[in-house]
Amino acid sequence: MPSQPIKLGCIADDFTGATDLANNLVRAGMRVVQTIGVPEGNLNAEVDAVVVALKSRTIAPKHAVKQSLNALQWLRGQGARQIYFKYCSTFDSTAQGNIGPVTEALMAALGTDFTIATPAFPDNGRTVFKGYLFAGEGLLNESGMQNHPLTPMNDPNLVRVLQAQCQSKIGLIDYRATAMGADAVRARIAELKGQGVRIAIVDAVSNDDLLRLGPALADMPLVTAGSGVAIGLPANFGLAPTPQASALPPATGLRAVLSGSCSIATNKQVRHFIASGRPALALDPLRIASGQDAAAEALAWAEPNLKNGPVLIYSTAEPDTVKSVQHQLGVDAAGAMVERTLGAIARGLAERGVRQLVVAGGETSGACVQALGITQLQIGPQIDPGVPWCHTNTAHGALHLTLKSGNFGSEDFFTKAFAQLA
Ligand code: ADP
Repeated sequence: MPSQPIKLGCIADDFTGATDLANNLVRAGMRVVQTIGVPEGNLNAEVDAVVVALKSRTIAPKHAVKQSLNALQWLRGQGARQIYFKYCSTFDSTAQGNIGPVTEALMAALGTDFTIATPAFPDNGRTVFKGYLFAGEGLLNESGMQNHPLTPMNDPNLVRVLQAQCQSKIGLIDYRATAMGADAVRARIAELKGQGVRIAIVDAVSNDDLLRLGPALADMPLVTAGSGVAIGLPANFGLAPTPQASALPPATGLRAVLSGSCSIATNKQVRHFIASGRPALALDPLRIASGQDAAAEALAWAEPNLKNGPVLIYSTAEPDTVKSVQHQLGVDAAGAMVERTLGAIARGLAERGVRQLVVAGGETSGACVQALGITQLQIGPQIDPGVPWCHTNTAHGALHLTLKSGNFGSEDFFTKAFAQLA
């Protein structure tokens, strides 16, 4: 166990989702570290919560269960008094899981007979009403998620979706209980338990609902949710929002942006950075495929530019260009090649003194974090909803890093992020 036991232990089923949860906990007053996978030894930081980032959303259920149980064991070893299993706010899951199987395995390991499940995150437009999940203005299955390549969501009724993945009986704590507050939620839980229900979907349409729900969860060994429920938990441990929770060491060194996301928001951010007159270099996947040493060329280009302020190196492109590249190279091969290149550039930039780095793209972030050998991130202040600055130590020294998932962040994100650190 670390010198000071942690309060809350979190298991996240993907990487940028872990950061999103950590960000909400920090804003509600917890000092938080995110680890990449399950650490080998004891935690070496004094914090209130740890978020273990797994990549278990779409792998086979038995592997997801195994990884999650490993994370649970480690978190309990660090003194965690409550466990939070975090999944996507669009309840991303395959027909087999993994939300149901992982939840049931964690319940069994913790010896608990009841938990909740709710992806509600009103700040991001995810609300649950009568057990139905809305993403933005419409139901989940009309939000675009019905076409997701890996986890198509065709049923917005979460009681049904989760029941199909579970042995346990699923029930609903509906809006009437969450609107009335913790006592009403506790009464509803007692009623559901009497009916043999072990997991309950919870309605929540506003942050107030989540804040009222919080106290009712204080004694639950396991909470399962998107990142929204996190806003109501730190108060159960006597913590309130404070700037100290997000304090990071002062930023130094050179600044750079690496962008491998081709999402709509990232395309706008790249255009905005270029329009501001700052140095930017585009990578061409077809040239890389034909043998160009793109990393060496990009680093040679960056070196003289870095001393004048942030530089941008990007493979970000519009959908037609991406499709054409994917058609010629294959979707996976193109993605992996670009990720490898951006990872090598991240390492080269750190070697050249970059100490403030913005990375855009979920998979791209994974590749860069891996290339930099990062295993642990201290979570700092939020730049935009879901995207905080983080701080870590690498072989080349301390690094301020932010990992932006594709569609997050305002148009001026790449310049705003550095201004905030300064
Ligand atoms: P997002 O968070 O926007 O989904 P990701 O980094 O997760 O971004 O995914 C983008 C994927 O697209 C990565 O695998 C990346 O390597 C790949 N990619 C980036 N640029 C290009 C490009 N120009 N052509 C084809 N694939 C690309």
